[in-house]
Amino acid sequence: MPYYHRQQPSNDSYGDFDATELYCPKCKRAVPVRKRLLLVLADGDKYDYVCSVCGTSVGDKMDRQDNNFHMLFK
Ligand SMILES: [Zn+2]
Repeated sequence: MPYYHRQQPSNDSYGDFDATELYCPKCKRAVPVRKRLLLVLADGDKYDYVCSVCGTSVGDKMDRQDNNFHMLFK
């Protein structure tokens, strides 16, 4: 996922406002993005990243469950 820059752990007070910046094709620059929960799946949550300036969807990401989780399966 080349478009995803992992943010540092933060004690941000912006709620679901992510510190991640992504390139927005509409703004033609890297912009702060909002992280929006899109889908909750068995193997992780899927998030949609939306430009905080113009609202364009600029990417998505799967937040996988911890890998150790799979060791619980038979
Ligand atoms: Zn934008």
